[in-house]
Amino acid sequence: QYILGIETSCDETAAAVVKNGTVIMSNVVASQIESHKRFGGVVPEIASRHHVEQIIFVIEEAMEKANVKFSDLTGIAVTSGPGLVGALLIGVETAKTLAFAHSLPLIPVHHIAGHIYANRLVAEMEFPLVALVVSGGHTELIYMKDHGHFQVIGETRDDAAGEAYDKVARLLDLPYPGGPHIDRLAAKGQVVIDFPRAWLEDESFDFSFSGLKSAVINTVHNAHQRGVQLKPEDVAASFQDSVTEVLVKKTILAAEKFGAKQILLAGGVAANRGLRNRLSKAVEDFKHLQLIIPPLHLCTDNAAMIAAAGSVFYEKGIRADLSLNANPGLSLSRFSTEP
Ligand code: ATP
Ligand code: MG
Ligand code: FE
Repeated sequence: QYILGIETSCDETAAAVVKNGTVIMSNVVASQIESHKRFGGVVPEIASRHHVEQIIFVIEEAMEKANVKFSDLTGIAVTSGPGLVGALLIGVETAKTLAFAHSLPLIPVHHIAGHIYANRLVAEMEFPLVALVVSGGHTELIYMKDHGHFQVIGETRDDAAGEAYDKVARLLDLPYPGGPHIDRLAAKGQVVIDFPRAWLEDESFDFSFSGLKSAVINTVHNAHQRGVQLKPEDVAASFQDSVTEVLVKKTILAAEKFGAKQILLAGGVAANRGLRNRLSKAVEDFKHLQLIIPPLHLCTDNAAMIAAAGSVFYEKGIRADLSLNANPGLSLSRFSTEP
């Protein structure tokens, strides 16, 4: 089985070929970060334009590197949401055109399901499991009783973790996207500031990062006004300590409550070394709990993860026809993997 995956939900134009849902034959990502950097964030119109310019070349390169022809493919999987509507549309229309031209099945994939399935490129998934999704737009705990079943058991009530990282990075004058820069700084700093942790109600698996973000902004501004020198690396380390403590504790609690055999880490912030280390340490206390963490290049947006999810959905009989549309607000709980 060979699935071509196509991903254009945000600012990465990506295509990949995955064999049998687990083996990466090619994984091509054209990043637009350089174009968005000077605006300090993703500009939707610029993203769409780049996707239009890049998509055909990216797909051709993915097919060439995998050394497959369209007649070798089993199906084409494409991110249909959530994301920027104009960006998603480029991938969806391209996938529809190719599926029609080559008489191939078309498989719609939820972007966050894709992030979760990046883990299947690393190890076989065992159910039940709990996935922690931490990305630029999402922070969610997801319970999966089986392939293709996604139950959102907790989510952020305000900012996503990646959003908080990027905003704190901007405050510290670090370039966009700031997550990796904070990560690097934090490794050099000390946890000297006691930033708040949003535990919310007992038993809640929801998250909140806007209070933490405000606390960091206030602390930095107050210090500045009083002429006190705060080391940016200490601010980064203290901020990261607050974020990762809450993420890790809630994930472990969820895994215990739902009797999970595995914890999967997913999304761009899963590239964070502080989070990876802390979660790895925490899981060591639980003999029967296995942790899967994708390598960095499979944590951030890519199409191999879309093809990996598409492979499973294909086996379940999920198909889209040419009426498939981009859905910027597609919900994961309601995203059906039943045909
Ligand atoms: P979504 O998947 O929710 O639609 P997205 O696709 O834009 O959003 P991703 O590409 O999955 O998000 O992740 C990008 C985010 O990950 C950015 O906010 C970035 O700062 C953050 N990020 C990347 N590397 C790291 C890191 N090492 N530490 C912390 N954050 C990081
Ligand atoms: Mg991105
Ligand atoms: Fe993403």
